[in-house]
Amino acid sequence: MTHHGLHHVTAFSGSALRNLDFYTEVLGLRLVKKTVNFDDPGTYHLYYGDETGRPGTILTFFPIADAAPGRVGIGETSETAFRVPRASIGWWLQRLLEAGIVHDAPVAVMGEPTLRLRDPDGTMLALVGVAEAGEASAWTGTVPAEHAIRGLHGVTLLLGEAGPTAAILTDVLGFTEDTREGSSTRYASGAAEGGFVTLRAVGEFLRGRQGAGSVHHIAFRAADDAAQAAMVEALTTRHGLGVTEQRDRAYFRSVYFREPGGILFEIATDVPGFSVDEPIADLGTGLKLPAGLEPHRARIEAALPPLA
Ligand code: ZN
Repeated sequence: MTHHGLHHVTAFSGSALRNLDFYTEVLGLRLVKKTVNFDDPGTYHLYYGDETGRPGTILTFFPIADAAPGRVGIGETSETAFRVPRASIGWWLQRLLEAGIVHDAPVAVMGEPTLRLRDPDGTMLALVGVAEAGEASAWTGTVPAEHAIRGLHGVTLLLGEAGPTAAILTDVLGFTEDTREGSSTRYASGAAEGGFVTLRAVGEFLRGRQGAGSVHHIAFRAADDAAQAAMVEALTTRHGLGVTEQRDRAYFRSVYFREPGGILFEIATDVPGFSVDEPIADLGTGLKLPAGLEPHRARIEAALPPLA
């Protein structure tokens, strides 16, 4: 069992209610945690994933109602992809049509059928048909189990040049080169969920501008604190990168660094996970606050927009 690969992806959205509706009703993910941005408690932090919120299944959002739209450019994550059973791409195409979701016709990407779509804020997503995904267990929210999303497939990073970022992926984060196609190179971690990072090198191009629909950062897995510390050691001594002190994110412990291509990377521990403060059956039902913010609960709750 590998403990490499993506842990989660975090993006900005507009309206929290619209975001919740899209990810739980249209895509059928589970809201596994409702909390606030620990660094800005006036903003929700919504976590979507599978039944238990396993690493590699998590997409999170900071919703800001009046956020200006972002613009994708180099130094940004340009696409976040989910795994679905290969035979379900047609079913999803029909679902997106019926729900009026902006999408492209399915195409083959690195040999896999890929259905690209946008969420209501313009976040670029894809559903990738993976043969073995149908065998994995699925959270059955609004989507029948046979078609449901089975965690993240991977992300695509838009870069000026790929080499320096590739060195971090392969030397520190547990990835190996997997497939090349055009200007893109895909790296694999061996994990079923969140297993892939594709680097797309485009040379001179506009830099991205963060806003609603932009991915803020991507997080990679470390099994525990010791594994994380070893990765930090490699980043600082072998690659000369500055890494933050560890921060307690309640459901995982994290360090952050800006990779050579300009994208914010996080390394998050697999432990303790989302059932640390509410039982699996109740995940996502209550507003959870870290101990330091609990004394301010009434004021925080009053300032957050309603989610129903
Ligand atoms: Zn994060």
